[in-house]
Amino acid sequence: MIKLNIALVGYGGMGSYHARELIPREKNQFEILGVFDTNPTRQKIALENNLYAYESFEEILADERADIILIATPNDVHKEYSIRALQAGKHVICEKPVTLNAAEFADILQEATESKRVFMVHQNRRWDNDFLVLKELYEQEHLGKIFQIESRVHGANGIPGDWRAQKKHGGGMLLDWGVHLIDQLLWLVQSPIKNIHAHLSYVLGNDSDDGFLIEIIFENDLRAIIEVATTNYISLPRWYIKGYDGTAIIENWDLMGKIIKRTDLENLKESTPIQAGAGLTKTMAPPTEEAIVESPLPDPAFEGPSFYQNFYAVVVEGAAPIVKNSEVREVMQLIDLIFQQYS
Ligand code: NAD
Repeated sequence: MIKLNIALVGYGGMGSYHARELIPREKNQFEILGVFDTNPTRQKIALENNLYAYESFEEILADERADIILIATPNDVHKEYSIRALQAGKHVICEKPVTLNAAEFADILQEATESKRVFMVHQNRRWDNDFLVLKELYEQEHLGKIFQIESRVHGANGIPGDWRAQKKHGGGMLLDWGVHLIDQLLWLVQSPIKNIHAHLSYVLGNDSDDGFLIEIIFENDLRAIIEVATTNYISLPRWYIKGYDGTAIIENWDLMGKIIKRTDLENLKESTPIQAGAGLTKTMAPPTEEAIVESPLPDPAFEGPSFYQNFYAVVVEGAAPIVKNSEVREVMQLIDLIFQQYS
């Protein structure tokens, strides 16, 4: 098996995670040549971690051993680095968001076509276990046909880091978590979008959004709500899912949660009214015990290769990419539309 040599640009939080965790998992396919980071402290840490520290990006471009360049810098330099890497004949893995908008991404794609190199975006949250549980529920209709999916990521730390909150660097939560959560839903639902509405929040006073709420209605009538917030001291569940036969909650990334389905029993007793606030309600009374059945969430199932295994197969065997550039383009176009209409 031939090994592909990879050099990393940007050795911060995510670049070092690729180097420490993700790439070594596929050590038969990939070899790390070294890293380049504009921050001397990060270069020093790379050396301490027994990685070669390139003196410049140009040194990577000139390194004939480098088959792949991984770009894990702040978002505003993804385009320039990607294009220069492709022009130098390198394959590219680029962190999300691929660029700041769809037009920048189109420029990269043109270069990838001309240079005949592989360009793939690290949309790794397609492999998240919580998402894979949802995928199983959706595709296998454990709740009957699903008609509503609510996807939430709530934090209370504001936006940490120096560039993540700054518009000029491609900061803000829509380009950060939004890219992941939109990608998950568009990939899952595979139905054209009929309608969309969004609200971006600026509670923290940055020039980029600190959260957002998007409602998407798909042509297959599925309604999706995506909400990201960084000022929530009490978080709502990661996923809330409604089907014609039941409801599911996936509380968190540790897969706590449950399914509640209606039973098929005929002649169920009518629920009795309960006191609710200053009034009575039968409609909102909890279902009787015999009317529902609780079950655990299904296991997350992903049969296919990891991101890196797939990338290797695309480069070496011409396999189909799991993260297709056409799908990335759709996400970026949707983000463009949200910024244009709802900022
Ligand atoms: P970070 O701030 O921790 O690291 C960025 C690094 O890039 C820093 O070390 C910085 O010194 C360096 N850098 C800045 N400008 C540079 C330049 N022009 N050339 C070379 N190096 C430069 O940020 P991060 O969290 O590692 O995010 C990096 C990228 O990874 C972003 O695009 C982010 O959206 C993405 N990311 C992806 C995931 C994921 O799960 N896919 C998770 C976190 C971050």
